[in-house]
Amino acid sequence: MIDTHAHLHSRAFDEDREDVLTKCWDVGLRYILEINIDRAGWPKARALAESDPRIFTTVGVHPMDVGEATHADLDGLESELAHPKVLAIGETGIDYYRDYSPHDKQREFFRRHVEWARDHGKPLVIHSRCRKDGPSSHDDVLSILEEVGKGEVRGVLHCFSGDVEVARRGTALGMKLGMGGAISYGRKKNRKWVAELRNAVGPDAFLLETDCPYLAPHPHQQERNDPSYVPLIAQYLADYMEMDVEEVARRTNTAAEALFGFRAKTADAPGSSDE
Ligand SMILES: [Zn+2]
Repeated sequence: MIDTHAHLHSRAFDEDREDVLTKCWDVGLRYILEINIDRAGWPKARALAESDPRIFTTVGVHPMDVGEATHADLDGLESELAHPKVLAIGETGIDYYRDYSPHDKQREFFRRHVEWARDHGKPLVIHSRCRKDGPSSHDDVLSILEEVGKGEVRGVLHCFSGDVEVARRGTALGMKLGMGGAISYGRKKNRKWVAELRNAVGPDAFLLETDCPYLAPHPHQQERNDPSYVPLIAQYLADYMEMDVEEVARRTNTAAEALFGFRAKTADAPGSSDE
């Protein structure tokens, strides 16, 4: 299995990062995609990816950090897209759930990331979150994808929280749906929702992720999340999709590999083996 969305360079792991990684490989994880969120954190994310052939990374400015970010930060990060361990662009997107960053600046920065994806041919890792009774981040994300990158970009709607219509529009634009610990919060409601998504967009539209250190799956909700919980998240998804967990692992591995290309990069890397 693959964790397609981890923040292991977060301070939350400063005391025991090595032990956490050992635990992840011990439970059978194949790869981890370490997600960068701002320019200041980039050296740490890069160093982590450089430390192990099974860890890859991304560059981008998280929508919640856009308020503080400058165009020079964006330009600085764009030049890092050539780094051999950078497989994707993000974390980018739009967050109307918490008002950390001005909405127009979030849309402008997201647009820039979609242009990068189009111009550099790398997939997008997209965050989209909003309140039920407020403006829809999903509508704005999908509209910008349609305007700037239609037919030319692909990626993942990470920690997917949209309805069937958002899933249809998103997958038609080349997006996968990231499933993490949140699917374990309220089994009945999520079973119905995942079944609807599966019927609408098929069983190959999903990726596994943790978003660690946040959103640990039940019954670990109050604890720090880490990638060793991916198999537990896969269990929930398998249960909702009425599939064996092995089949979920196989389908999500194939989808993640096709989107990010871990294996080809691993074979490239000096001194690494292709497992
Ligand atoms: Zn994230």
